[in-house]
Amino acid sequence: MDFTKSKKNIVLIGAGIMSATLGILLKKLIPDANIDIYERLDTVGAESSDAWNNAGTGHSAFCELNYTPENADGSIDITKALKIAEQFEISKQFWAYLKAQNYLDAKETFINDIDHMSLVWGKENVEYLKKRYQSLVQYPLFEEMLYSEEHELIKEWIPLMMEGRATDETLAATKMAIGTDVNFGAITRGMIKWLSSCEGVNVHMGQHIEDITLQSSGWWMLHIKDLKTGEDRSAYADFVFIGAGGGSLTLLEKTDIPEGRGYGGFPVSGQWLRCTNSEVISRHEAKVYGKAAVGSPPMSVPHLDTRIINGERCLLFGPYAGFSTKFLKEGSYMDLFLSIEMHNVWPMMRAGMKNIELTKYLINQVRQSFEDKFDYLKLYYPEANIKDWKLEIAGQRVQIIKKDKKEGGVLKFGTEIVTNSSGTIAALLGASPGASTSVSIMLDVLKKCFPENIQSENWKMKLITMIPCYGQSLVENGKLCREMRNNSTKILKLEDS
Ligand SMILES: Cc1cc2nc3c(=O)[nH]c(=O)nc-3n(C[C@H](O)[C@H](O)[C@H](O)COP(=O)(O)OP(=O)(O)OC[C@H]3O[C@@H](n4cnc5c(N)ncnc54)[C@H](O)[C@@H]3O)c2cc1C
Repeated sequence: MDFTKSKKNIVLIGAGIMSATLGILLKKLIPDANIDIYERLDTVGAESSDAWNNAGTGHSAFCELNYTPENADGSIDITKALKIAEQFEISKQFWAYLKAQNYLDAKETFINDIDHMSLVWGKENVEYLKKRYQSLVQYPLFEEMLYSEEHELIKEWIPLMMEGRATDETLAATKMAIGTDVNFGAITRGMIKWLSSCEGVNVHMGQHIEDITLQSSGWWMLHIKDLKTGEDRSAYADFVFIGAGGGSLTLLEKTDIPEGRGYGGFPVSGQWLRCTNSEVISRHEAKVYGKAAVGSPPMSVPHLDTRIINGERCLLFGPYAGFSTKFLKEGSYMDLFLSIEMHNVWPMMRAGMKNIELTKYLINQVRQSFEDKFDYLKLYYPEANIKDWKLEIAGQRVQIIKKDKKEGGVLKFGTEIVTNSSGTIAALLGASPGASTSVSIMLDVLKKCFPENIQSENWKMKLITMIPCYGQSLVENGKLCREMRNNSTKILKLEDS
C-alpha cells in the first residue's frame, strides 16, 4: 500500500525554522506533495528564528548548566545533556547535507565555530562543574571537553572575563572548542528560498491564518486573511503543521481537537545588553554560560556571547527576562487573554500558584533599571564600561502550561508536539532547546503523523541520505559519533581557526 497517496496536500503555518525544516523533509520524502507555506509577516524567519531574537547558541549541552541538574545524592544527571548533544549533531548533519547539495546560498554563512564555555565561582559551584565535567567527558560527544581551575589558563581562554578578578577567587571553567554560533534566521531564509524553487511549493507572505476547521471529509479548511488587501479566503489540506511559534497555541485551540485541550501558554520576553565598542568585541571569542539565579526559569541562564550575524562580529550579554502578554514579538497585547478558555483556565491558575518563585523572579527582572542590568553584567565582565552597552529586545517565548492529573496544571520549559489521533494535524508548542534541535523535533512530527511511511525502506533510505546517522545512536557508538562529527565539521567549515 502506498501511504503517500494521502497527506500530499500540505499546509505549513509560519515561515520559521520549524516549518522550513519540515517542508524540506516532506518535499524530499514525498516529491509530488503540494506544499503551501503561510506566513503573516512580510519577511521569512523574522520572529523567534531571526538572529537578533534568539541567542544563536547551537545548543549541544556543552556549556548550558541547566541541562545537567544535580541529583539529591550529589551526582549529576546528564540524561538531557546526552540527548541534546546528539540532537544537535543530527541538525548539523542535515545542514551539512543542505550545504553539500547547494540548497543554501553559499554566500550566507549560517554557522560559525565559537568555543562553548561554562564559568562558575564559589566552592559549591566549582565542585558541581568538576563533577559535571567528569560525568560528561566519558562520552564521545563530550570527550574534547577541557576543565580548569587555573586562573592563568582560564585567562588565556577568556581574558575579558578574568581581568579585574581577585587572583585567589575560587572559580572553574570548562571549554569545548567545537561549539557553534548559529544564525537560525539565515538558515531559515535559505531553506524557504530553496523550497520556493521546487515544483508544487508556494510560499504566501503577509497571510494570517485565522481559523482551522475540520471538514466531514477529513480535510482541514483554513481561513486566511490577506493582511495587505484585507481579503478573506480559504484553503484546504489533508495535513497541516502549525509551526507558528508563539502563535501555535492560539491556532491549536481553533482546531478543537481533543488532544489540544488543557494547554495554556505563559509568555516570557527577553532582552540583551549589546556591546557597541569594537575593541571590546574583538577581545572576546566564546559563548560563556554561567549559573542561573535561584528561582529563574532555565532559559534565563546568563551568558556573554560572541555572535556572528550577517558577517558582523557582535557581543551580547543576557538574556534578561521580561513579561509581556504578547505571544509573538509582532503580536498583540491581547494574545494571553484571548488564549484563556474554559479548558485551560484551571491548569493556568494551578501552574501560576505552583510557580510563585518564577513570578517573583519575573517581577524583579521587569523592575530592573539599565544600571541594575549592567551591575549583573559586571559579575561576568568585571571591567565593563556602562558606556559600551545598550539594550536590545529579543524574541518572545511562550512556555507550555499543561493540564496535570495530580497538580491540576504544570509549567513546562521544553517543546511538545500535539497531534490528533489520525495524524492529520500537528502543532509545536514551547521553545526550548528550540531551533538547535529543530531537525529531531521535525523527525518526531513525521513519526507521529506518518507512522507507516517512516517505517518504509523508501523513507529510511531517503532519511539516511539527509541525516547519515539516522536510526543509530551517537551516544553509544563512539566511532560513528567521531566520524559523523568530523564530516559535518568539514562540510560546514567549522575547523578551529
Ligand atoms: C530570547 C530567545 C533566545 C533563544 N535562544 C536560542 C538559542 O540560543 N538556541 C536555540 O536553538 N534556540 C533558541 N531560542 C529558541 C528558538 O528561537 C525557537 O525555538 C525557534 O526559532 C522557533 O522556531 P519556529 O519556526 O517554531 O517559530 P518562529 O521562528 O517564531 O516562526 C513562527 C512563524 O509563524 C508566524 N505566524 C504566527 N502566527 C501565524 C498565523 N496565525 N498565520 C501565519 N503565520 C503565523 C510568525 O510570524 C513566525 O514567522 C531562543 C528563543 C528566544 C525567544
